Parts: sequence; structure tokens; C-alpha cells
Amino acid sequence: MTKEEVLGWLADVTDPEVPALTILDLGIVRDIQISENNEGTTVKVWITPTYSGCPAMDVIAIGIRMALAGHGAHKVEIEQQMSPAWTTDWMTEDGKRKLKEYGIAPPNRKAFQSLGLFEEEVIACPRCGSEDTELVSQFGPTSCKALYKCLTCKEPFEHFKCH
Ligand SMILES: [Zn+2]
Repeated sequence: MTKEEVLGWLADVTDPEVPALTILDLGIVRDIQISENNEGTTVKVWITPTYSGCPAMDVIAIGIRMALAGHGAHKVEIEQQMSPAWTTDWMTEDGKRKLKEYGIAPPNRKAFQSLGLFEEEVIACPRCGSEDTELVSQFGPTSCKALYKCLTCKEPFEHFKCH
């Protein structure tokens, strides 16, 4: 068993909140260690939560165990690495594209950084591209996402927050 193989199997594990994204797209898999002893092979996986207290992490951990067990790796240890904290920069370009196709506005670091005290972050609608959008709720269905409404096509959408 190699790290590359394990990485390939982890590509089947999706984010329960955004099933279009794999945990590799999100960039939350930080390290993999494979150790062998006479009791067999142990795979250790380090993951960094996208948001502290993100309930999806438990579901992701179960997904990792199931994916690896399907390939014969039954001894799996999952460690949560809290530092350095996950940032949306770790998300792959592919991941950001999939997020948009899924109808969620991808993180926009530039908009986030230029955010002044009285300015609001400009988030383009993932459906029509209009920047005429308004924040409905800072906290969407989960704490990782904010809820927006597009004033052009009148559709609500979720935005994956930068943090
Ligand atoms: Zn729109």
C-alpha cells in the first residue's frame, strides 16, 4: 500500500455538505502515513476541518474509513490537525469550479481582503454572474456557508465563506 494509492481512494470521499466536492478538492487532507507491523497495516490520515466545529467532519471521517476499508485498509486512524487553520486557498482550482457548477459562489479571497468596515463583500451570482446580490444571512444551512440572494435572477444561493 502506498500513499499515492491511499490518496486515490480518498478521491472518492465527498463533502457531505457539497457532494460535488471531494475532500481532496477541499484540500483538507494534510498528510497520510502508512505503517506496517506484524499486526498489519495502519493508515493514518490528518485532516484539517474547514471550520472549527464543522459537524461535517464526523461524516467525512466515516467516509474516509469506509473508502479505505473498501480497499482492505481496516486499521485507520484519523487525526484532526487544527493548526495551521484551513483556508480557502487550499481548495483546488478544480474544486472552485465544481463549487460554482454546483450553484455555490466560490470563495473570493480578493473581495474578502478588500472588505472595509462599511463595505460589503461583492459576491457574484453563480447562476447569472450578476454582482447585484445581497447577503440574506451570514450563517447559511451550516456555519461554513452564507446565504445570498441574486437581485437580477431573484435566485437565492449559497456562498462558501472565506475564513
Ligand atoms: Zn443571478
